[in-house]
Amino acid sequence: MLVETDSCNSPFVLDANGLGRLIASLHASGHRVLGPTRRDNAVVYDEVRSTSDLPRGWVDEQAGGHYRLKREGEAYFGYTIGPTAWKSFLHPPKQSLWSTKTGNGQTEIRPASISDEKLAFLGVRACELAAIAVQDKVFLDGAYRDPHYAARRANLFIIAVNCGRAASTCFCSSMGTGPKAREGYDLALTEFITSEDVAFLAVAGSKEGAEMLSTLPTRPATQADIDASTEATAQAESQINRRIDTSGLSPLLKENPDHPRWNDVASRCLNCANCTMVCPTCFCTKVEEVSDLDGVETSRVQSWASCFTSDFSYIHGGAVRTTPKARYRQWMTHKLATWVDQFGTSGCVGCGRCITWCPVGIDITEEAAAIRSGNKGG
Ligand code: SF4
Ligand code: SF4
Repeated sequence: MLVETDSCNSPFVLDANGLGRLIASLHASGHRVLGPTRRDNAVVYDEVRSTSDLPRGWVDEQAGGHYRLKREGEAYFGYTIGPTAWKSFLHPPKQSLWSTKTGNGQTEIRPASISDEKLAFLGVRACELAAIAVQDKVFLDGAYRDPHYAARRANLFIIAVNCGRAASTCFCSSMGTGPKAREGYDLALTEFITSEDVAFLAVAGSKEGAEMLSTLPTRPATQADIDASTEATAQAESQINRRIDTSGLSPLLKENPDHPRWNDVASRCLNCANCTMVCPTCFCTKVEEVSDLDGVETSRVQSWASCFTSDFSYIHGGAVRTTPKARYRQWMTHKLATWVDQFGTSGCVGCGRCITWCPVGIDITEEAAAIRSGNKGG
């Protein structure tokens, strides 16, 4: 259970050996530890068995439609974020809901088992904590609580790592979600450079986090440690140049369904759905029956869907949103306007993934600004 961070926020300092002990302790307590790893020239979240799995000395370079890793420095968490979001583990791309088996004239219905796996996320950024909080509202707080999400979430241990760098695509500060983690974690680390190596300012955000911290080799933080970690997050904040002006944004978008800018963005959008797949808050799914070849066993499978596909809005008689313009407008207006009506929060946390992973570099911050300014586009 998470508690207010102020109740247990005395900072300690953990060195790289202590980080390794943290990973080992999580394994020993039965957690599957997931965190940043380097694969296919990107930082992706995957199994972490020790600190040697972490992308030490790698940083990312991001821009609209552009992502590269390069060698720089010695930090374990010097990258910002990659293409995978934590939703891949809490709300996985495919999930069996139930299945049937037919035989001897009977049909047996089997509910899908609920996972009791204990997950630990290592390296959750502040914007990603905000995204998990958004998905909590969708899957836990509404009328249709998702039992699979609830089980994974209940057993989750979160280690946030504050950003020491920002990518050019980041705009968390204007969305009020970062770059420093404020709540929603069990432990928060800030990596900083010392004369000998790297070190981590560690703060507990829950009883479980405080208990874990008490078992690790730490020392109380000095004022110099606190200043060094503050400088690291201040550096990230100073590098954030993109922003969205959120004042009055919801009525602005709702009042402009016929703005010519929607035609302009539709002429560039490929309707590839990348933005929805990488977005840490997008949650839409479709449900299909999948049977074996002899028709004995059938599963009802839920999988990620995207509002950028034409069949997503299919209802009796045809699709409701038949044009790329209607689909992009739906996505952006939902993210930044109607999401607030539905869940009491924006659907965008400013992570910038949709900008980086859009093959043609469409930028949600630029589109929102164009609608506000009355810019009619090219
Ligand atoms: S809309 Fe884009 S910037 Fe906002 S949370 Fe989704 S991927 Fe991140
Ligand atoms: S905005 Fe970009 S990523 Fe999203 S569907 Fe269009 S082309 Fe693909």
